[in-house]
Amino acid sequence: MTRQLFAEDAYLSTYEAKVVDVSARGGIILDATNFYATSGGQPGDTGFLERADGTKVQIATTVYDEGGKETIIHIPAEGEVVPEIGEPLVAHIDWDRRYRLMQMHTACHLLSVICPLPITGASVSEADSRIDFDMTDTADKAELTERMMELISANHPVFTRWITEAELDANPDLVKSKNVKPPRGVGKIRLVCIGEDAAIDSQPCGGTHVSETGELGAMHIGKIEKKGRENRRMRIRFGKLPQG
Ligand SMILES: [Zn+2]
Repeated sequence: MTRQLFAEDAYLSTYEAKVVDVSARGGIILDATNFYATSGGQPGDTGFLERADGTKVQIATTVYDEGGKETIIHIPAEGEVVPEIGEPLVAHIDWDRRYRLMQMHTACHLLSVICPLPITGASVSEADSRIDFDMTDTADKAELTERMMELISANHPVFTRWITEAELDANPDLVKSKNVKPPRGVGKIRLVCIGEDAAIDSQPCGGTHVSETGELGAMHIGKIEKKGRENRRMRIRFGKLPQG
């Protein structure tokens, strides 16, 4: 079981950890990590593990061990030396990349606020993120961009809150995804809330987010594609909406 520090503090860019195991395929398992593991449409962190002698073990990606969300495996890049079990390390995430993912992921929450329809799929990436909505009407990207920028400019707080599974059962509307249900069995669910007292939004999510919507800066809806009769795929990009 790996302590998942990114769930408590998304801004923890470095962390002193200890190697507790190395998998048969060379995956590195630490006692605790700030590296986000691929899940919920957000890719795993890249970065490096710094050994006591100053050498670096580059990490190509981070994933959960098969069969659950308990153990996190840091996958070294091709040809990297694998550290010893028990070795102390400093874990450095590629902060620029992760911060862009945090901005993009938070933008996806804002889009789900201005477009309150069931979500059939989502994917966060550094340059371009997408959400697939179950909707038949077309939407105007300039209008959606304007509404998203209003939420960004208002600089609403973004924070997490834990609720029990029973509380979630009493509020089924919190879940916006049609196909993905929050993980069950641990007794508690992590809610990501936006606005004072979660006035703007709250929904179950295990990803990493910025702490104020103003941190997103200029963003826009890049493209709206029709994916079948009842699906619209919307793309989010950094920067202002290009004219014309
Ligand atoms: Zn999220």
